[in-house]
Amino acid sequence: MPLRIDDAYSKERLKLVLDSTRLGMWDWNPQTNDVLFDKNWAEMLGITVDDLTMTLDDWSSRVHPDDMEKCFEDIQAHISGEKDFYENLHRMKHADGSWVYILDRGRVVERDEEGNAIRFTGTHADVTPLKKAEFESSLALKSRDRFFSAVSHELRAPIHAMLGLVDQVKKQLTDESLERSLSIVQDSGQHLLFLIKDILDASKLQGAALELQYSTFSLEGLIKRAVDLFNYRASEKGLRLNYSFQLEEKACLNTDHGRLYQALINLISNAIKYTERGTILVECMAKDSVVSLSVVDTGVGIENENDIFKPFFSVDTKSDIDDVHSTGLGLSITKEIIEALGFHLVIESTVNVGSRFSIEIPIEKMSADGVGEDGVDDVDQSVDTSQWNGKTILVVDDTPINISLVEMMLEDTPLHILTATNGKEALSLLRHHKVDVVLTDLHMPHMGGLQLSRNIREAHGASGIKIIIASADTKTEVWAECEEVGVDDYLEKPFDEDSLHRVIHQYIS
Ligand code: ADP
Repeated sequence: MPLRIDDAYSKERLKLVLDSTRLGMWDWNPQTNDVLFDKNWAEMLGITVDDLTMTLDDWSSRVHPDDMEKCFEDIQAHISGEKDFYENLHRMKHADGSWVYILDRGRVVERDEEGNAIRFTGTHADVTPLKKAEFESSLALKSRDRFFSAVSHELRAPIHAMLGLVDQVKKQLTDESLERSLSIVQDSGQHLLFLIKDILDASKLQGAALELQYSTFSLEGLIKRAVDLFNYRASEKGLRLNYSFQLEEKACLNTDHGRLYQALINLISNAIKYTERGTILVECMAKDSVVSLSVVDTGVGIENENDIFKPFFSVDTKSDIDDVHSTGLGLSITKEIIEALGFHLVIESTVNVGSRFSIEIPIEKMSADGVGEDGVDDVDQSVDTSQWNGKTILVVDDTPINISLVEMMLEDTPLHILTATNGKEALSLLRHHKVDVVLTDLHMPHMGGLQLSRNIREAHGASGIKIIIASADTKTEVWAECEEVGVDDYLEKPFDEDSLHRVIHQYIS
């Protein structure tokens, strides 16, 4: 005989369930607005059932005013049959004055002959601890992002000054051995910059999409620049570093230049790191519908290809190669970048023979001479500065060494230079001088670059003065704000003389 669950038994069981799950119960007649609330419901709000009038007002008078509208919308959506259940998260006033987060769920269980809801029952759960945890973790995420941005800025800014100065000093040197020493300083500075970029990226890439900036540029130009950057490090280890470009000379690629450059640099840097003798070859060729951009080495090779893409995996932890300094971040970021660009990373490797890391690019991303408007491959263009005669630049930076650097970079040009150490000073100079270009830092005491730009645009209109921001913040992070206040261009620190000349030239001639 089947077990009969009588009324008393099921009531008792319901009470046990509600008590043990700490749920409060309500039973509402939407026609009369009478509501039956239970003990748990009242206790959740720091009151007792005796404090209640057992009408809808007991609930509605305690709901946070900002949450009310959405509550009624959700209730209506269920009553009208649009939704099978009612569910809403809202804040309610506790007797101690605080707000508690209530997860409210229910269902119409009875309707009259005309279909009007006459019994709507449900439960309340206090989810305040969960909401607090969620809030704290969102705060933690925000402060983590702010921390990494600040660290990156603080580290990049002095390296910018250091590299720029070294470059200027090198130009005046005649002593070869000193020049060599300075090249080491430059190389180490560049290496530091890449490490900072990798660490920053690794912190950001967790779950977030990469922001890409597309342009069309010469693929050979990009390879040449990357190879040039590592010539010194390779020769120091006694390795040959060559490149072989087997496409048409003018072959252009449309993708994010900076990101592809970062990926290629990581691959070349690894090839040098994990090769003791022989040659590193950067090779670019087309086969069928794919262009392969490969870095081939004659190094130690890879035992287990599955491990190497794990963040923080580094063979260093297992091996006794003692001249290798590894973070284990490079490859996981490189792979992520390559995939974000819509390319593939393919590895072939034999232990003790060498490795080939290939970036496979679909041929449709290539064009013969398609240098687009915004993607002029200006890497090799030199600038005729004689056209700058009679023009004035205002350089705004709170770090004196940065101003000196720009002055040195412009000293052989006919450009007239004015300087200011913050936005306020810059504005007062602008009142008395005719200026063609303002080159300003972002973060400065008294008035930063964004506020300065806003003020210039308000006082002088959109045309006329050109504004270029020069900052150690990465462009992708701050460009939207810059654009909004009418900034014309952005130069990431560290920049070299050529990039400074090119960006000025674009706005002055
Ligand atoms: P890191 O080089 O800082 O350890 P990466 O993420 O760049 O970190 O590389 C992860 C691992 O992949 C390295 O520790 C190394 O074992 C292996 N690896 C990467 N590139 C090469 C290469 N060209 N030859 C041999 N092993 C490599």
